[in-house]
Amino acid sequence: MKKNKSLRVLSFIVIGYMLLALLWWAILLHRKNTEVFVLKSDLLKEQFMNKAGVANMDVTSMPEFQEIKSDYKRQMYMIFGEAIVFGCTLVMGMYFINRAYNRELSAAEKQKNFLLSITHELKSPLASINLILSTFIKRNLPNEKIKELSADGLKESTRLEELFNKILISTRLGQAYQFNFENANISDLISKSVDRFQNLHPEAKLIKNIQPGILHNIDQESIVSVIKNLLENALKYSPNEKHISVDLRKEGNETIIEISDHGVGIPKEEREKIFDQFYRIGSEDTRASKGTGLGLYIVKQIVQAHKGKIKVMNNDGLGTKFITTL
Ligand code: ADP
Repeated sequence: MKKNKSLRVLSFIVIGYMLLALLWWAILLHRKNTEVFVLKSDLLKEQFMNKAGVANMDVTSMPEFQEIKSDYKRQMYMIFGEAIVFGCTLVMGMYFINRAYNRELSAAEKQKNFLLSITHELKSPLASINLILSTFIKRNLPNEKIKELSADGLKESTRLEELFNKILISTRLGQAYQFNFENANISDLISKSVDRFQNLHPEAKLIKNIQPGILHNIDQESIVSVIKNLLENALKYSPNEKHISVDLRKEGNETIIEISDHGVGIPKEEREKIFDQFYRIGSEDTRASKGTGLGLYIVKQIVQAHKGKIKVMNNDGLGTKFITTL
């Protein structure tokens, strides 16, 4: 990282030097051009004075002088014009190289974060399943305990499966995901998804405000995935108050889904970036919550495939509100 920084400083110094050299070259050429102009006008004046046999005369209104002057002006415009074009090209080139370089750096950072989080996400359920299986082998447990541990193991393996699904969907969304659009009752679909989520997470305090009977042309499976991802995030990033509301309504031709929580919120400057693949707020070393940075990427790809929009805003000063418009 430090090496990259000094390389960047060096490249700025080189570009700065080149710009100064360009300016100096333009000034020198301009000076030479002025000298030539002065010499040419003196020569012209001398010729006319000799012809007329006088000691002094004003030649500035003569056509010959006007021609020399317009020649001088043309040269001057050419010198400064070329200097400006070269300078701008250099600065623009530098700007684009710098931008591409920054993108590469942030992609590398995201990739590193993803690898760190994925390793963690894979390791912890695997470790739990290993522990459960080795307990089964080593100890003679009563039936009740076996049931309890098996349920825990199942939870962990479901988590693993969901993680792999996310990775798979996110890869396929960029290439060959087949959406199956049909006119469906989105009110029922969302209502059932919310109920299922509530059953899985009794600690969440879900409030449904769903206008019944809304029909929309959607791919049902992927819309369920949008709701699930947004609800999971709302719960995951609400350490204290777990009030989550789900609103669905029709406005003209548009179907609007709002999911709001009372959690940690998302700073303004992060709101564009959170939809990038692998992007997570903060650094993987300091972050407490588990995740992969894939959820919102998947959500946005699905919403866009439905020709819809998703935006994020403050939930009345506390927490976050995701508004999806289809
Ligand atoms: P993940 O949750 O796996 O990290 P996501 O793509 O779902 O990945 O979310 C990207 C980031 O956006 C998260 O790391 C989190 O910092 C932020 N985020 C998403 N939803 C919320 C929310 N409801 N409240 C606060 N932060 C959120």
